[in-house]
Amino acid sequence: MSKIQMKTPIVEMDGDEMTRIIWQYIKDELISPYIDLKSEYYDLGLKKRDETDDQVTIDSAKAALKYGVAVKCATITPNDARVEEYKLKKMYKSPNGTIRGIMDGTIFRAPILIKGVKPHVWNWEKPITLARHGYGDVYKNTEIKVPGAGKAELVFTAEDGSEIRKTIHEFKGPGVLQGTHNLDSSIESFARSCMNYALSVHQDLWFASKDTISKIYDGDFRDIFASVYEKEFKEKFEAEGLEYFYTLIDDAVARVMRSKGGFIWACKNYDGDVMSDMMASACGSLAMMTSVLVSPDGKYEYEAAHGTVQRHYYKHLKGEETSTNSVATIFAWSGALRKRGELDGIRELQDFADRLEKATLDTIESGEMTGDLALISDLPNVKKLNTLDFIKAVRSRL
Ligand code: NAP
Ligand code: MG
Repeated sequence: MSKIQMKTPIVEMDGDEMTRIIWQYIKDELISPYIDLKSEYYDLGLKKRDETDDQVTIDSAKAALKYGVAVKCATITPNDARVEEYKLKKMYKSPNGTIRGIMDGTIFRAPILIKGVKPHVWNWEKPITLARHGYGDVYKNTEIKVPGAGKAELVFTAEDGSEIRKTIHEFKGPGVLQGTHNLDSSIESFARSCMNYALSVHQDLWFASKDTISKIYDGDFRDIFASVYEKEFKEKFEAEGLEYFYTLIDDAVARVMRSKGGFIWACKNYDGDVMSDMMASACGSLAMMTSVLVSPDGKYEYEAAHGTVQRHYYKHLKGEETSTNSVATIFAWSGALRKRGELDGIRELQDFADRLEKATLDTIESGEMTGDLALISDLPNVKKLNTLDFIKAVRSRL
């Protein structure tokens, strides 16, 4: 059998612990036998990040912008314990945060639905993709614990010294205060990422906020989305038969619950934080979720939404058997290969990505799965496989 040939390399960002083990299994069993893999390899394992003072993370993100498609393994975000464990020179920042900053991206997350693991909302037939804005609001707030009676004001001082001043509240006793902000440039990037992504996956886009109460702040989000849509996307959406739809967040929640799924739901930072956890748990687990970071100009970084599965890794190191779910990491690879195939016009690569995903889902639906799914599956003939045997079972179907 001749291997599928590639034109442009995929940016490969290797990672840590159990997911690094899985990464190699996937390449050996599911990718290399079928594809003449062209990749530009960056080792984001903690040891290499430390050796390079984290330059390798920055280089990998720049490579993602240069080539347009990257696939990332889960990585350790160092804390005190990790600094000690790996004898690090310093406590490096989260690689995901660094990459997100350089790519200025929006994260899209969608559950992978399978027979035998039913979503708790029975009418969801297709996944709902959650798009979360990654900047500002309550995540960059300034807060004051008000000690007692007094006047709180909101003041903006322009560069020329002129002021805008509004009274927040005349306090009669103790209370609390919070100041939040966002940037038109960041909201515009977010809108553009969502609209490009909707076109690329051929789905409708919903955006919701609380603009009836927050007339200026949430109103700004609503107006920027509307203006980006009118100026840059309306014609493209109409040509594809797709809809951009704005509604109040309360209405969106009610509609999502009644829907069949199959659309993109864009959320402000806090709404996205809370709603993505709800979607993931309503559909099974974090290991059954796709995750892709998309930059405003359409560069893609595919990853798994879960971490490095440290507890399983320590078992693995002791020579004990593990049953770690590799589905999210397999789908990160298939997503990246499919996108590379689309951009380079390589049909075989796109077809291969479809077959890899189908083989993975068929394996689970036939009853062969890892321990996390075996616990929640209602299939009659469930067989729990270890980490490598699951990947081998996928290969035999592939
Ligand atoms: P985690 O790796 O997501 O794992 C937490 C627990 O969730 C596991 O112990 C396991 O439960 C279950 N789990 C997660 N993924 C699984 C999978 N693929 N298959 C089966 N079970 C799975 O989170 P963590 O252990 O709290 O964090 C470990 C490291 O990951 C941290 O250093 C953190 O910084 C990093 N992290 C990285 C990313 C990323 O790079 N995207 C995201 C989050 C965290 P049981 O133990 O009960 O089996
Ligand atoms: Mg959360």
